[in-house]
Amino acid sequence: MDSTKYIFVTGGVVSSLGKGIVSSSLAALLQARGYSVTIQKLDPYINIDPGTLNPYEHGEVYVTEDGAETDLDLGHYERFLNIPTGQANNVTTGRIYEEVIRKERHGEYHGKTVQVVPHITDEIKRRIRLLGKTGLFQIIITEIGGTVGDIESLPFIEAARQMHYELGRQNVIFIHLTLVPYVGVAGELKTKPTQHSVKQLLEFGVQADILVCRTEHSLSPELKSKIALFCNVEQNAVIESKDARTIYEVPILLKEQNFDRVVLQKLGLKLGNNPVLTEWKEAVRHIVEPEKSVKIALVGKYAELPDAYKSILEAFVHAGVRHRAKVEATLVQSDELTETNVAEKIKDCDGVLVAPGFGVRGIAGKIAAIKYVRENGIPFLGVCLGMQMAVVEFGRNVLGLADADSTEMNPETPHPVVALMESQAKVERLGGTMRLGAFECRLAQGSRVREIYGQDVVTERHRHRYEFNNAYREAYVAAGMFPSGINPEHGLVEIVEIPSHPFFIASQFHPEYKSTLKTPHPLFVAFVEAALEHKNHRSP
Ligand code: GLN
Repeated sequence: MDSTKYIFVTGGVVSSLGKGIVSSSLAALLQARGYSVTIQKLDPYINIDPGTLNPYEHGEVYVTEDGAETDLDLGHYERFLNIPTGQANNVTTGRIYEEVIRKERHGEYHGKTVQVVPHITDEIKRRIRLLGKTGLFQIIITEIGGTVGDIESLPFIEAARQMHYELGRQNVIFIHLTLVPYVGVAGELKTKPTQHSVKQLLEFGVQADILVCRTEHSLSPELKSKIALFCNVEQNAVIESKDARTIYEVPILLKEQNFDRVVLQKLGLKLGNNPVLTEWKEAVRHIVEPEKSVKIALVGKYAELPDAYKSILEAFVHAGVRHRAKVEATLVQSDELTETNVAEKIKDCDGVLVAPGFGVRGIAGKIAAIKYVRENGIPFLGVCLGMQMAVVEFGRNVLGLADADSTEMNPETPHPVVALMESQAKVERLGGTMRLGAFECRLAQGSRVREIYGQDVVTERHRHRYEFNNAYREAYVAAGMFPSGINPEHGLVEIVEIPSHPFFIASQFHPEYKSTLKTPHPLFVAFVEAALEHKNHRSP
């Protein structure tokens, strides 16, 4: 018997209302009341996963422990809940159809006509209930991507409606997120878009149980009553979600309106212990009123699109809280950097992070930035492509290997210091074929990273095809770049550092995926500390 409770979160009126943050905040509140909760995202696009999408389309690809390439909302889920997500937490239309078509080709539908209802909706329900069947969670929050009324998301809404019918209203509830805009000329908040969007949901057979209204101004009790009356929800189920000062304040603001209580009552669950949220409040205080600040340059080719670096930016927030400091991450466009302008472009920064990425655009700028920070003792953290470029830069400028390169950028290089992994050589399909997910990394005794982590072996997440070429290892060590993290199974170099530099560390893995407010990532904490020291040293 599946005793799991299901909460569906839909969005209306406009996109980008922050369903992911509201879902994460609710989950955190329920977790604080003692429930085991997870969140799932249903994405209505036809790609199997976002792994093949350009960040301009979709922002960052978030990678889970088990190697799923997922929507960036899963990053929020992990950062708010401190529990890992996985393959089952992100389902796209493409994945649903892939499975249904596979079954059809195998004759599993016994000659029936395969249709959106019931075959696609059944597969959607199966995917939702898979998480329930693990027995790990009492409550599953499923966020339906897109906006109600979109053609693409209809089958998801229909599947949710069926689950409500099949499992009963105490086991399945609907939270609808809408916008209550302020119309300046009228000097008023307007409820009509909310009413329309709730009605639209109703057309699909779904009555929202709770409304979360995004708004710039507080909703008066009269306005809440009006929304409740016209949208057919109880008055205490109209929750206002005002723009917060930081996303980590959202659980606190929602709790003040008893959002979690209303949800638990509707699900017929005990309220459990009333969470005090001390840690969240402390963190928000440190984010909003930091004691100090430091600027760090984030060098990447998607600088105009901060969502492409979501987890890195959040990891800076977490590390900042640990140091009571505001980390001002300045996005620096890598294609605009050259050896001549780099000093000027990053003159206010006390640390440089060179970002992950693919392809040749912006590479020269990344290398110029790395050369500059290496020669000038500026704290440096390289992530994935950032590590590969640190290796290339060192090869060219310290080892004197002219045209040393990654074979991703120059397949003909005479010095392939970064090269395709053997396991990747025969890969032809693009999607889901990188080295993905968590792998162990053994940290060298006496290294900087060993000291930072305080552990001999760590597990970190990957998403890449190329690696440090071990044929050059001795030459690098002799010249002062030291492989301080090694995969124990394959001997792949996972971290390099320069011991003679104040802070020069680069990892083949992505530390940012594992950073949360509660457990900021040690590499980010150490990097921000080094940047703060650098700043003090410059202007004590
Ligand atoms: N493009 C590089 C590779 O495939 C780095 C990938 C990354 O930065 N995530 O190895």
